[in-house]
Amino acid sequence: MTEQETGERAAKRTGGLEACQRCGREQGLVGKYDIWLCRQCFREVARGMGFRKYS
Ligand SMILES: [Zn+2]
Repeated sequence: MTEQETGERAAKRTGGLEACQRCGREQGLVGKYDIWLCRQCFREVARGMGFRKYS
C-alpha cells in the first residue's frame, strides 16, 4: 500500500520524468528521502545507509 501510494504521488508530481539515479530505470521507482531509485537499487542503497526495515 505504502509503495503504491508513493509511486502514484511521484508520477503525478513529476509527470514521469524521474528515473533511478543509480541505474536509470524508470520502473518501480521509489522517491524517498529526496532520492530517486528503483526498488532494487533502493533496497541496496537503503541497506548501505543503515535502514534495516526489511531485514
Ligand atoms: Zn536502479
